[in-house]
Amino acid sequence: MGKFENTMNMLLDTYHKPTTCEKCGGRMIFHGCGEYVCENCKNVEYDDYGKVRNYIETHGNATITDTAEATGVKTEVIKDLIKNMRISKG
Ligand SMILES: [Zn+2]
Repeated sequence: MGKFENTMNMLLDTYHKPTTCEKCGGRMIFHGCGEYVCENCKNVEYDDYGKVRNYIETHGNATITDTAEATGVKTEVIKDLIKNMRISKG
């Protein structure tokens, strides 16, 4: 069980997935596309993928540097996200 939990924590840490609601402490339910919704108060939070995806969608000409500054996500992670998840830039 310890090993399994370590692996799970590692996966959760990769994109800083929200597991607990910042507003009420409720459980965050994965909603798709990096979006999570609190099962109690419907507060919406995003993991790194969701933040990057939203930013690029609303700022079509944003560079990786712009996106990193706006979202607080490391440039390495953004490059990785774009490569692995095929985020469309237009
Ligand atoms: Zn909540």
